[in-house]
Amino acid sequence: MAAIESAGARRRGVEFAPAMSLDPTDVSPILAPLNDAQRAAVTAPLGATLVLAGAGSGKTRVLIHRIAWLIQAEGATPHGILAVTFTNKAAAEMRGRVEALLGSSGGALWLGTFHGLAHRLLRLHWREAGLPQSFQILDSEDQLRLVRKTIRALEFDEARFVPREVQYFINQHKDEGRRPQHLQAGGDPTERSLIRLYTEYEQLCARSGAVDFAELLLRAFELWRDNASLLQHYRNRFRHVLVDEFQDTNAIQYAWVRLLVGATGCPFVVGDDDQSIYRWRGARVENLQKFRSDFPQAQLYKLEQNYRSSAAILAAANALIANNSARLGKKLWTSGALGTPVQLYCAYNERDEADFVIGRIQQWLGEGGRRSECAILYRSNAQSRVFEEALIQARLPYRVYGGLRFFERSEIKDALAYLRLIANHDDDASFDRIVNLPVRGIGARTLEALRETARAQGQSLWHAAGAVQAEPSNARGSAALHQFLALIERLGGEIGGLPLHEQVDHVISQSGLIEHHRKNKAVRGEARVENLEELVSAARGYEPESSELPPLQSFLAHAVLESGETQGSEWEDCVQMMTLHSAKGLEFPVVFLAGMEDGLFPHQRSSNELASLEEERRLCYVGITRAMRQLYLSYAEQRRLHGVDSYNTASRFIQEIPPALLEELRPRIQLARPAATEGTMHHGPRHGRIAETDSGAGGVRLGTRVRHGKFGEGIVLNVEGQGPHARVHVNFEQLGAKWLMLSLARLELM
Ligand code: ATP
Ligand code: MG
Repeated sequence: MAAIESAGARRRGVEFAPAMSLDPTDVSPILAPLNDAQRAAVTAPLGATLVLAGAGSGKTRVLIHRIAWLIQAEGATPHGILAVTFTNKAAAEMRGRVEALLGSSGGALWLGTFHGLAHRLLRLHWREAGLPQSFQILDSEDQLRLVRKTIRALEFDEARFVPREVQYFINQHKDEGRRPQHLQAGGDPTERSLIRLYTEYEQLCARSGAVDFAELLLRAFELWRDNASLLQHYRNRFRHVLVDEFQDTNAIQYAWVRLLVGATGCPFVVGDDDQSIYRWRGARVENLQKFRSDFPQAQLYKLEQNYRSSAAILAAANALIANNSARLGKKLWTSGALGTPVQLYCAYNERDEADFVIGRIQQWLGEGGRRSECAILYRSNAQSRVFEEALIQARLPYRVYGGLRFFERSEIKDALAYLRLIANHDDDASFDRIVNLPVRGIGARTLEALRETARAQGQSLWHAAGAVQAEPSNARGSAALHQFLALIERLGGEIGGLPLHEQVDHVISQSGLIEHHRKNKAVRGEARVENLEELVSAARGYEPESSELPPLQSFLAHAVLESGETQGSEWEDCVQMMTLHSAKGLEFPVVFLAGMEDGLFPHQRSSNELASLEEERRLCYVGITRAMRQLYLSYAEQRRLHGVDSYNTASRFIQEIPPALLEELRPRIQLARPAATEGTMHHGPRHGRIAETDSGAGGVRLGTRVRHGKFGEGIVLNVEGQGPHARVHVNFEQLGAKWLMLSLARLELM
């Protein structure tokens, strides 16, 4: 169905000539690269607008062109536009594309993630928000530490109040906009204890000037809700509010947008109910419906042409998602060619799966493709390690998004803790982290006393330390404590006025962290030192997005908010690796969906509950629709994950894809074929072919030297399995280690 035609476009009688022009009033560069439905959405009359459309139909493109259109044709200024994207990377790309369309800087545009924008707002209005000027952001690991501390402070049992669950409890309420005083336990003692923990946790945060991720959003919401004049100021300023990936907004994000828009603003939101994948983090797909009821005049646009994927990939995605019941219903078609069918590979185990993937990447590279065009997507972060090992062995550069991110590495967090404590003496999390790192003889007793004092007086550890060091009873410990406080004070004085990277460099070199890691050879101290050096380069290359904050503050916030997205060298051509969740909005010519096994994907926890199963299916839909030209699905018959072996069957999602669209790369039927028939077809091996008998690995033992027709010579590292399933791990001289199926490999004993 054609999308609603824009009255605005008709009214203006816009010409859609594709020619580029230097005339600043010429809108053709903005409108020419769009199809009719997209153009209608981009030129929609001012007012509430919802673009509801499937994957790869150009929603993000429409949002970008809408920004340019508002500026070029509707007289908006970049200063008057606020746009929300899903990642900082997407925001940077979006800014670049808007600037290219306009031929001018979009610097004044507020463009970022919900968290990034909320942070910016709180920095500007810390006083009104009731925060200390130097407040620090806690990432989820920091938050967990603080939750644990809270549990201990209240002397609750950690076995009953599992820190992660308490953290979840707190965040979930914050995401819904609820403070502890809004909660009622009723008669439930556990609930009562959780509320007490939440209350105590809030006090700890307040005392140390710490703000966790959920708090950023809630605070930013309360800031506007409770400050009518401030809200009015922002309503006057941001008449245009645009949100990408709207289906994954949570309650507080929606409320924040709703507050800003008020009765006069123009919200422009784009989303796809089939790609809502953050329910577990509070996202509410119902916000799409809510938007329509909150803005009954909203214009609805649908886009139905997919520009991203081959017809085979798109058909597979459509067939899969058709199994979900609660859908708003959309059509999605492509004018593109059918392309290669979806390729399915059944591996023996996770290492075989990784070898397969690497082989296909090498094939793609051999055909002239680039590494960065290949993405390996998986359900759980823990799956990345095996791929990383295989990629290292194959000497293929790669980048992992998420997982252990650069700014989350412990040595980096230690160094950042020094900087944070210098910036804000009341930052308890940082104080705790480095007070005895490197070891300076501050004993557990001194620290315990410190925490006691801090708690009793409701003060920060820094304050309490001032008191403890004055006590004569603990001379040695307090001398060390005194030195620590003096060090932090001194460093703070020394770095004032230095350029950012020299500040970072100075603090790292004076902190003693480098010597500390150098001494510690066993845990790869050198690599840690290199990472610390990398932090200095990160600071050197850092460009604050606004001058509202001192550079160090801005850098520290960046380290928490943007961790992971800048890992590795951005410019290097790397294989891309990430979880399915972080792949949202992205696209790659070649996509591998690994670990397509029941229990892993759909996840064990989700298979029994319909709503969760449907969310997993949407996640699979997101994964499939990332692929442009080639899509590989793989699963392993046996998988070791978290140190446990499991034997899984193929994911039910594979069965939901019509067989005609799938091509099995190693049909299982062949696996079971008696291997002897294959062996007899070959003649005259000089050293005798390995016996491919039912008894399994024949004469192959660990350390046996073998030759493979294609891979050359190597040594057997491992033998597993029986009969037709027997397989060997061979370290080839040229190619490194590979798993091979004994019955098919035709190895010669040397
Ligand atoms: P997702 O749901 O995955 O976020 P999306 O709807 O935001 O996808 P985009 O990322 O905007 O889709 O577009 C998908 C791809 O199609 C991009 O490569 C984009 O450049 C291309 N594309 C979109 N519209 C057109 C068009 N009219 N002509 C040519 N290419 C287009
Ligand atoms: Mg998009």
